[in-house]
Amino acid sequence: MILINSKNSELKNIVILATGGTIAGTGIAGKTTNYKAGNLDIKSLVDSVPSLDEIANISYQQIANVDSNDITIDHWLTLANRINEISKQSDVDGFVITHGTDTLEETAYFLDLTVKTNKPVIVTGAMRPSTATSADGPLNLYQSVALAANDLSKGQGCMVVFADGIYSGRNVQKVNTFKTNAFNSIDLGCLGYMRDNIPYFLNKSIKPHTVDTEFDIFGLKELPQVSIAYFNIDADPLIIDYLAQKSEGLVIAGAGCGTFSSAWIKKVKELETKGIPVVRSSRTGSGIILKDYAIDKSTNCIPGNTLAPSKARILLSLALTKTRDYSEIKRIFEEY
Ligand code: ASP
Repeated sequence: MILINSKNSELKNIVILATGGTIAGTGIAGKTTNYKAGNLDIKSLVDSVPSLDEIANISYQQIANVDSNDITIDHWLTLANRINEISKQSDVDGFVITHGTDTLEETAYFLDLTVKTNKPVIVTGAMRPSTATSADGPLNLYQSVALAANDLSKGQGCMVVFADGIYSGRNVQKVNTFKTNAFNSIDLGCLGYMRDNIPYFLNKSIKPHTVDTEFDIFGLKELPQVSIAYFNIDADPLIIDYLAQKSEGLVIAGAGCGTFSSAWIKKVKELETKGIPVVRSSRTGSGIILKDYAIDKSTNCIPGNTLAPSKARILLSLALTKTRDYSEIKRIFEEY
């Protein structure tokens, strides 16, 4: 239960759940580098955005205040459970999550698969700290609140708003290390644009999300451990043994179409009888991976479809909360 500010009865009630990141970062006045992420609290952040109270009634809660490299599965479970719980309140219309950009795409996909509401859930952040000249956080936050408060956003899954673009939590990727236009979905395109507080939707993801997924995190204290192995020329196959000791599933960030050496293929085969599924994704950043008769000889080898390695890891981990059956996991990777 959260106490909702419903000051203006004509406006929607939006809840901001803050986790930190550069959007809440502070540093040397004017500079964009060498700052501390996760330093401002959500109240100061909200107060820094002009006319936010003209587009929605804002309530907020600080879930964490960390650099997003320090986000953990505990934070994910807390966030998803908070959204699932608060969304049952009839006086809540939508959510905005403020987050560091480095791992924002992972949290957005996790929420896309695990929140159980049709109410809008928007994730945003900033590339420049709040103290920089032309900080991008205030506009990203303003547009995220506007999107969360718009009826067109209902039932669209978890979305990301960044630099005037709207992206699906499934397809969004960080594509630049420092520019403010740091997110897009490469070949898969954006869902639409934001101009000031108005969304212009153009596309829709057909992949199941939120209320239509089979994943339920209620009551879970942790998620099955899934690790990622990055393949490169002459990569040591022993890394697979090392990761397999600690993991219930593996993702390989393969070359090209999710490929790797014959030494790695042999290692993956060895994991078949140990019950460890291995998802093949690609380090290229775009494209689709389908069954490859030369590589997917062992039943535990699963094509990762269009998911980037960090997102394939999330889906595999959630799949493992439901099943250990390789063909079921393959079905999940084709469907989501
Ligand atoms: N390191 C920061 C973070 O992910 C970067 C950012 O937010 O832009 O928290």
